[in-house]
Amino acid sequence: MTAIETVAVLGAGTMGHGIAQVCAAVGCDVRLYDINEGAVGAGLARIQGNLDKGIERGKVTPTERAETLARISTTTRIADAVQDADLVIEAAPESMELKERIFAEVDAGAPTHAILATNTSSLSIGQMATVVADPTRFIGLHFFNPVHIMTLVEVVWSETTSDATRDTATDFARRLGKEPIVVRDAPGFASSRLGIVLGMEAIRMVEQGVASPEDIDKAMELGYRHPMGPLKLTDLVGLDVRLGIAEYLHETLGSDAFDPPALLRRMVAEGKLGKKTGQGFYEW
Ligand code: NAD
Repeated sequence: MTAIETVAVLGAGTMGHGIAQVCAAVGCDVRLYDINEGAVGAGLARIQGNLDKGIERGKVTPTERAETLARISTTTRIADAVQDADLVIEAAPESMELKERIFAEVDAGAPTHAILATNTSSLSIGQMATVVADPTRFIGLHFFNPVHIMTLVEVVWSETTSDATRDTATDFARRLGKEPIVVRDAPGFASSRLGIVLGMEAIRMVEQGVASPEDIDKAMELGYRHPMGPLKLTDLVGLDVRLGIAEYLHETLGSDAFDPPALLRRMVAEGKLGKKTGQGFYEW
């Protein structure tokens, strides 16, 4: 099994900075790559901010903060980031074309033993793996936002992923203090596929006047012990983002359970996108 000492994280945005932080926190040397100095600098500043908050809350010691930061180096050259990596985790924008381009470059520059992972939330792992010479080392590692707080990681394997890659990736997620679940490469993996069904049905219930958004959310919060109801969650994620995922799952999986309700389409068209616009199923 590959020992993971050095990790390259590609993309220093919302997910990439958090992934870099949690890898460095458990002792890995991390190479954080992004396309320009501004982006890597912003990613590093977010890591510093998270660690500062951790100190305020008594979860991180000043020594741990310093050691974590000392293990992270930044670069704007992908070849430098991956050249000595045991594990590459890609967290660039959600585009198959872009990710395929990135992995072609990674394949040319990373050691032949390196595990190649993508943090995609929806794209096919199997298709992405076709651009690398050895797809047995390719896998999905789907973290949740914010990475340093959320414990779930979906380990997504395709037909070509080897058992050794799957086991190494699962063990690594545990080493990060996460709870990995192992999921076959299927649209929506496990989390989005279930979450979207609940979200779409809750919107249909609002549409049909079954109950108010508050009461539908309470049904799940109090009756099923969900920390947050499906409509509040939709407001936080963004109605446009959830509509996009629902359309994709409806198209790929075919089930009417994913068919976006007319109310959702209307709210998105009216710019009621949830928390980010101040209005969704709730006023923010
Ligand atoms: P983001 O826009 O916050 O960050 C993306 C980063 O990638 C930016 O810093 C950008 O400069 C950089 N980038 C652009 N082109 C690049 C390239 N060619 N190579 C490397 N980096 C490049 O996006 P994000 O929310 O961090 O999402 C990244 C990935 O993680 C996506 O695949 C997304 O679907 C997935 N994801 C997102 C979330 C979430 O809640 N945001 C959760 C799970 C998974």
